[in-house]
Amino acid sequence: MNVLVINCGSSSLKFQVINAVTEEMSAKGLCERIGIDGSRLVYQKTGGEKEITQAPMPDHKVAIKMVIDALMNPKTGVVKSLDEIGAVGHRIVHGGEKFASSTVINDEVIKAIEECSDLAPLHNPANLIGIRACSELMPGTPMVAVFDTAFHQTMPEEAFLYGIPYKYYQQDKIRRYGFHGTSHAYVSGRAAALMGEDISKLKLIVCHLGNGASVSAVKFGKSIDTSMGLTPLEGLIMGTRSGDLDPAILQFIANKYNKSIDEVMNILNKESGVFGLSEGLSSDFRDLEDSKNRGEDKGRRAMEAFAYRVAKYVGAYIAAMNGVDGICFTAGVGENSPIVRNLVCEHLGFMGVSIDQDANNQRGKEIVISEKSSRVKVMVIPTNEELAIARETYALVK
Ligand code: ADP
Repeated sequence: MNVLVINCGSSSLKFQVINAVTEEMSAKGLCERIGIDGSRLVYQKTGGEKEITQAPMPDHKVAIKMVIDALMNPKTGVVKSLDEIGAVGHRIVHGGEKFASSTVINDEVIKAIEECSDLAPLHNPANLIGIRACSELMPGTPMVAVFDTAFHQTMPEEAFLYGIPYKYYQQDKIRRYGFHGTSHAYVSGRAAALMGEDISKLKLIVCHLGNGASVSAVKFGKSIDTSMGLTPLEGLIMGTRSGDLDPAILQFIANKYNKSIDEVMNILNKESGVFGLSEGLSSDFRDLEDSKNRGEDKGRRAMEAFAYRVAKYVGAYIAAMNGVDGICFTAGVGENSPIVRNLVCEHLGFMGVSIDQDANNQRGKEIVISEKSSRVKVMVIPTNEELAIARETYALVK
């Protein structure tokens, strides 16, 4: 069965078609600048060339129609008719406390996702637009919602509560939720397989280091803590997000520079992180590495602060789980930057972690990068959120 995996943002839409039985991807692509001038579809059949189609996409329905037409194109498409798409899997950012697992989408589920929108005002409404557009264009095709927050719903109260008046949790559900759950679940599962052990016996730490970044503590297969909170702003220093800070900084900047809360939030989300620390040089670790290699302070300081924060979370989660068997690196930076992995692991020598540099310099595959003598296994595990969504979708509709 082919599953169409959709990740719908406010002005973009990423998609993949995955055969849920063979787990092979037949096509992927992205619609950019939906609702804005200059919109375009980038489409690529597996093994084929990238095709770019510039065309107006006033809304997501038009964008999804273009995706469907591309998938059915007699020359470069991958299906003959819509009947060959057995299900659609939607990535949904926030499931609040309502969703601890993926679910088949019906009116009730749509209403519940709407009710979570105040927790993710930028993301959930865009995800819902994708659901509605698909259900209009592909009526009768079952759809599944896969939540970024669901995997972390096993966090205990002591990990998810903030130290603020309890009524804010009771009345408003202000608590830590965590994100990237699909990736943390997939990577921890793959790590157990690579280690040849049963996940129900393992204490694992997953460092998902991409543009957005988070660490999770996965004890016996369940997430018991993770670094992102009510929103993805908490935790690690990220590409452009600040991560953890003293909330008084908001007041300080707002008062001193006469800015509104929204303006300061924009600074913390879009102008901070390694981008801000490198004085606006870049949020991309390739640029930061080049800068560090040129002997500049900008790249060095951003990378060291980033890695230090990751190591601090790893240390915290070793305490949270009372031990650790494996540490995994994943996502753009985690998979591709041996330097960042070294910088993080330098802090972990106390527990016998040592890195095999030959293994650490390999790319693009699941690999153990710690030396045989290392008491804790350190691994690189490429994430595959789309495949994980296709699996969840297939499991619920087959
Ligand atoms: P997201 O899905 O959060 O947008 P990704 O997981 O795709 O992010 O990660 C993107 C980031 O990965 C880039 O911004 C860049 O910092 C980093 N990255 C990608 N390739 C490399 C590389 N070869 N070396 C170092 N960093 C890389």
